[in-house]
Amino acid sequence: MHDCYGRPLLNHGSCTIIDVYDHEYDVIVVGSGAGGLTAAVTAAIQGNQKVLVTEKTALYGGTTAFSGGALWLPMNHLAFENGYLDTCERVGTYLRSRLGDDYNQDKASAYLDTAPEMCKWLESIGATQFIPLPAPDYYADSDGAAKAGRTVLNAPYDGRRLGQLVKQVRYPLQGYCAFGTMHVDVMYQAYWTRPLASCRSFSYVVRSMLRYVADFLWYGKGTNLCNGNALVGRLIESATKADVTLRRNSPAMQPIVDNDKIVGWTVQKQGKTLKIRARKGVVLASGGFARSAKLARDYLPTQDWTAVPRGNQGDGLRTGNAMGGVLPQHHPNPTEHYTLPCPSIAQSTAQSSPFLTFRISRNLGSSS
Ligand SMILES: Cc1cc2nc3c(=O)[nH]c(=O)nc-3n(C[C@H](O)[C@H](O)[C@H](O)COP(=O)(O)OP(=O)(O)OC[C@H]3O[C@@H](n4cnc5c(N)ncnc54)[C@H](O)[C@@H]3O)c2cc1C
Repeated sequence: MHDCYGRPLLNHGSCTIIDVYDHEYDVIVVGSGAGGLTAAVTAAIQGNQKVLVTEKTALYGGTTAFSGGALWLPMNHLAFENGYLDTCERVGTYLRSRLGDDYNQDKASAYLDTAPEMCKWLESIGATQFIPLPAPDYYADSDGAAKAGRTVLNAPYDGRRLGQLVKQVRYPLQGYCAFGTMHVDVMYQAYWTRPLASCRSFSYVVRSMLRYVADFLWYGKGTNLCNGNALVGRLIESATKADVTLRRNSPAMQPIVDNDKIVGWTVQKQGKTLKIRARKGVVLASGGFARSAKLARDYLPTQDWTAVPRGNQGDGLRTGNAMGGVLPQHHPNPTEHYTLPCPSIAQSTAQSSPFLTFRISRNLGSSS
């Protein structure tokens, strides 16, 4: 097994207790996607903890930075403020109708209790800025489905607020960009496709292009972060304000274990292995495994192409397994849980690029 730069990975088992540490934190967070950054911000602000986020690749944001950034957060306060009424019972009915035997009452209740709270709190500290999506649940015909309100999108984020750190936010997928790195917000796509259709669209396109030129000269990339990129940008701003230490090019390798308890982690940095103590705990937020050929073979129905970044090789999953955690060998319905259809656009006879689209079961009538 190799990492995203072709270096051999350690076995992701564990190593024994060490007396001398190179660094000490209260909490170590492995991975800098939305999961890791949210955990880091929460530990630093709510728990007043000293936090390290250690990221394997050269860029922060993981798959989250590539994503559409649409979050399914039923019972969120924005839905109610916008007149989309809902109840936990209806959401529970929807989940039960979709999940069948996989439905777990405790997990569903935990999610429904805490998702709205998380949404409100992150907004209150400026770590997110959500917009309610006026679109239905994916399975709009299922019992308990809502017509709108349960999903929120991320408002665009001005990456210039991060200064030069914006260069270390993972670039969006090419399919979402114009001129290389100018992120096009799906909400404004119509302006780009018909810039002369109205004064408003013309002015939007001209302003965006002028800003992009200035951004490119100063930062080397577009700084109007949209969708999942905007989510990452805001979380990074909150993390830095909360004195969270962010380290990139720093793959977490092995837990350090004392009496069956994880007390630290080894991290590779510039060819050295650092031993880092975690006084209170470690959060494994290293994302998925689609970039691991072996895990993809074991768990995915097809392995033609994946949109996730190269660092997502299931490192956390392997460590979890080594520490006694388990994953079901065969998911009852892998196509629903792991994949989405992705046509390619032929750019020339020899080349085609995958184009991400969400045509799947979201029932929007004839359009999608
Ligand atoms: C194109 C696309 C669009 C999507 N759109 C949506 C959407 O609209 N809504 C939605 O809900 N979901 C969407 N998803 C799925 C969603 O993006 C992911 O489920 C989510 O971002 C995962 O977040 P995460 O924090 O768990 O992991 P990630 O964001 O992947 O972050 C994990 C990080 O951990 C790092 N890492 C891995 N191993 C190590 C290690 N050993 N040491 C240190 N760091 C490590 C990785 O490099 C990575 O940066 C989309 C996915 C894709 C690919």
